[in-house]
Amino acid sequence: MESKIFQPNSKNILKASKILQEGGSVVFPTETVYGIGANALNDKAVERIYAAKKRPQNNPLIVHVENLERARSIAHFSKIELFLAENFWPGPLTLVLNNGSQEISKKVTAGLRTIAIRVPKNTTAISLLKTFGKPIAAPSANISGEVSPTLATHALDLKKDVEMILDGNYCEIGLESTILKCGEGKIDILREGSLTRENIKKVISFEFPKIEISLQSPGKEIISPGQLLTHYSPKSNLRLNVLEPSKEEVYLAFGSKKASIEGFSLSENKILTEAARNLYNYLRLADEMILEDPNSNKKSIAVAPIPNYGLGASINDRLLRASTLKR
Ligand code: AMP
Ligand code: MG
Repeated sequence: MESKIFQPNSKNILKASKILQEGGSVVFPTETVYGIGANALNDKAVERIYAAKKRPQNNPLIVHVENLERARSIAHFSKIELFLAENFWPGPLTLVLNNGSQEISKKVTAGLRTIAIRVPKNTTAISLLKTFGKPIAAPSANISGEVSPTLATHALDLKKDVEMILDGNYCEIGLESTILKCGEGKIDILREGSLTRENIKKVISFEFPKIEISLQSPGKEIISPGQLLTHYSPKSNLRLNVLEPSKEEVYLAFGSKKASIEGFSLSENKILTEAARNLYNYLRLADEMILEDPNSNKKSIAVAPIPNYGLGASINDRLLRASTLKR
């Protein structure tokens, strides 16, 4: 079968842009995870990505744009929202803003009056956005609820439903964007991500000393489905904070791992950025060891304790959701 994975050269980016123009879907790399993109102005194209991901229709998509100017043409920014965008775009920050566009498909926003927007920091993503010249709706390129893709081959889970996959190698960060919603005197973190709360605080504290930043913990009222308890999940069960894995567990260590223990180290030198970059790939590889090797005695996954600060807090957030028993 013809491979759908292509190098992101200018010829292929032009081809990808034509596919989007015709209502097709293209997987492309970003610095966070791979996205499955469609023309955000085209209802049918957007419907196709919900179907490909088996994503509930009430879970709105993030709109990707090439720069702040384009974002301002589709949404209203308050002073603080503008400040955040100017400081963190391009980058792993998604802002939930008041929708100011009649053109963006209502399917993208699931009928809400708000719209989630981001400018990615990845040369292929930006080239595609510039070449296409319109906003691209792009959720992560995985089946809804499963592990996000951080390599082009991971997006093959969706290959029936996409016309093209642009290969950007490993995603530089490997964790989803941080989603923020600003209100009167406050910023709510709807989803923790690769932009940390500490980093946000540091940057805004001089201009906005009184603003409160709070995490919307997963609860009864779900503003952002990234808050759903079971999400980002491997197929196998996952045990957290494990120092001594059993023989039946594939181990994801943090730091060096004894040779006698089967598994992977998220980061030999305990570097959180490296652990974030490896996390989803290793969860997928662990799943393969358990489910695809008929001679395997492995039954589940165990993960070492990860320090709960900075990027570690976001890694722990994903691990907690991934570990919620699903069966
Ligand atoms: P994904 O695209 O898979 O990374 O998921 C995007 C996340 O953004 C989901 O959890 C959405 O619920 C959230 N999101 C998108 N638009 C909005 C919005 N208007 N309000 C709140 N959350 C949103
Ligand atoms: Mg996702």
